Amino acid sequence: MRVVMIGPPGAGKGTQARMLGERFGVPQVSTGDMLRDAQREATPLGREAQRYMDEGRLVPDDIVIGIVERRLAADDSGPGFILDGFPRTVAQAEALDAMLARRGTPLDAAVAVDVPRADLIERLAGRLVCRTCGTMFHRTFDPPATSAVCDRCGGELYQRADDREDRITRRLDQLAKEVTPVAEYYRRGHLLRTIDGTGSRDEVLRRITASLPA
Ligand code: AMP
Repeated sequence: MRVVMIGPPGAGKGTQARMLGERFGVPQVSTGDMLRDAQREATPLGREAQRYMDEGRLVPDDIVIGIVERRLAADDSGPGFILDGFPRTVAQAEALDAMLARRGTPLDAAVAVDVPRADLIERLAGRLVCRTCGTMFHRTFDPPATSAVCDRCGGELYQRADDREDRITRRLDQLAKEVTPVAEYYRRGHLLRTIDGTGSRDEVLRRITASLPA
């Protein structure tokens, strides 16, 4: 199963990508996570990306396309992948198509998760992420059993710099500009599935699974 998840930050893309990956036995590949790993390790690429990410701007296409290309060449991506946070520009979508065409493994679907803007702000401002395993929690809607500790692995939970309230509006404005052309690109290719992202995680997962090819 080869799927890309598109949609705004906070729409639940990451959570759904993780659940879909587990369901289909394929890796969830998140460009945001890979870029944050590179930052943590302070690689040259990580330092370059940080300037953009801290301001809620997109990292340049050539950097992100290179990361995805290397990741999809890994053995565990053979049976497929759930790409989360990529592509975010039409140039990235075209580069992905070219990569997959070279391997003879075209995309099965592009899933757009749709959530009203007011809900997105509420979700992002309360979001907590595990530093060790990347699992997401929410202060109000999905709190961890122990404050600031990950239920899954015991890692430390933190608020991403770009989830601070002053940065969220900027990211949401950015996303309106980025999601529409990418969604259009996949609509033209008849791969777009627009899914209502409101309701419980399991409800959203059921809607997505029902929309995917058998
Ligand atoms: P995310 O975790 O998907 O919300 O991504 C966090 C940040 O990483 C974004 O605000 C961008 O700065 C950067 N980023 C992640 N994926 C991409 C991408 N496909 N293209 C450009 N920048 C990206």
